[in-house]
Amino acid sequence: MEYVKNVVCPFCGTLCDDIICKVENNEIVGTINACRIAHNKFVHTKGATRYTKPLIRKNGELIEVTYDEAIEKAAEILAEAKRPLLYGWSSTECEAHAVGMELAEETGAVIDNTASVCHGPSVLALQDVGYPTCTLGEVKNRADVIVYWGCNPMHAHPRHISRHVFSRGFFRERGRPDRTVIVVDPRETDTAKLADIHLQVEFDRDYELIDAMRAYLLGHEILYEEVAGIPRETIEEAVEIMKNAQFGILFWGMGLTQSRGKHRNIDTAIMLTEDLNDFGKFNLIPMRGHYNVTGFNQVASWESGFPYCVDFSAGEPRYNPGETGANDLLQNREADALMVIASDPGAHFPQKAVEYMTEIPVIAVEPHRTPTTELADIIIPPAIVGLEAEGTAYRMEGVPIRMRKVVETDLLPDKEIVEKILEKVREIKASK
Ligand code: SF4
Repeated sequence: MEYVKNVVCPFCGTLCDDIICKVENNEIVGTINACRIAHNKFVHTKGATRYTKPLIRKNGELIEVTYDEAIEKAAEILAEAKRPLLYGWSSTECEAHAVGMELAEETGAVIDNTASVCHGPSVLALQDVGYPTCTLGEVKNRADVIVYWGCNPMHAHPRHISRHVFSRGFFRERGRPDRTVIVVDPRETDTAKLADIHLQVEFDRDYELIDAMRAYLLGHEILYEEVAGIPRETIEEAVEIMKNAQFGILFWGMGLTQSRGKHRNIDTAIMLTEDLNDFGKFNLIPMRGHYNVTGFNQVASWESGFPYCVDFSAGEPRYNPGETGANDLLQNREADALMVIASDPGAHFPQKAVEYMTEIPVIAVEPHRTPTTELADIIIPPAIVGLEAEGTAYRMEGVPIRMRKVVETDLLPDKEIVEKILEKVREIKASK
């Protein structure tokens, strides 16, 4: 058995880079250091369907075809579409994203990643009011106050807490005892159980709570005995801890981006963080979900000036989330073809969008059987980045890390598949 060290986990935005894979006969058979989610990504689950050949649906049946046939058909669909949508991208590497941007430009498509159903509201907010951030290394070495707001890393980013709260840092030699942890969540989550203070905010009322905190911080009285279900004294106690932090960090997640107020919740959380810097040092980091959702936003920003929801239909890039997001185009019945790569909207989009997906041609660049592949007309299986293909990924706070290839496969990497589709689209267009 071979032990491959310093492997980077291709699952969540924590992007752990200390995984050891146990490899036997070109197969990953075990892991060390990986959390349970990661282990299941590395080690093939028995009974799970892994596509090894491209498939095209004919009369309702999926028929095996060659890569060339599947790519040609996909290119025809995209070249003929008037309003194609290229969606997904967060579970593949940045070099594939860059080719995706070219494909979007070539086909006049809208290109969007999972940010539009995830931390897109955070992007809107930081474009409005700024982004006082830092790296996770600074959190580990300096943070004495850690706030998890509307996120549950014990379940969604399982090693986040061990790597940044329990870990001993340069200025935090005792690790957890040197830090105060505040969790804001309506539920008593497993993360909340580890907190020193749990602010059990009423659902959908985070905006009011943050406003009360800001008011108190800026020297005003909190007008009510309780705000969002939290007694005034408890709010004041939490603000005093944050105000006196030597180095504080606010991590936030779906509890803020997906609840009432959406990007306005983040606006006010960012402004609270900015206000806290009048007293000490405070930063924030979004708990980005997929391992490379951040990478797509980086690449799209360099290439087009916009991070997601980029519309090339007018020739130049245009950006207006609410109009040019994947769900906007599907729920308004605007898109007439959909290419999904490294994502599963069939499982994770609202019913109205999924219903519309059944009415338009769907191309899925996807290694596993998923609700999206159940709807797809063409399935093109790629090598999995981080296991069978390498490439660049960006951690939740924007640190780039190179994904490693651990085992060999005959399947094409995402980048090559998108390149071949782009090449074919150009051929089809040139022939007209
Ligand atoms: S915490 Fe996230 S990045 Fe780290 S091993 Fe688990 S799934 Fe992978």
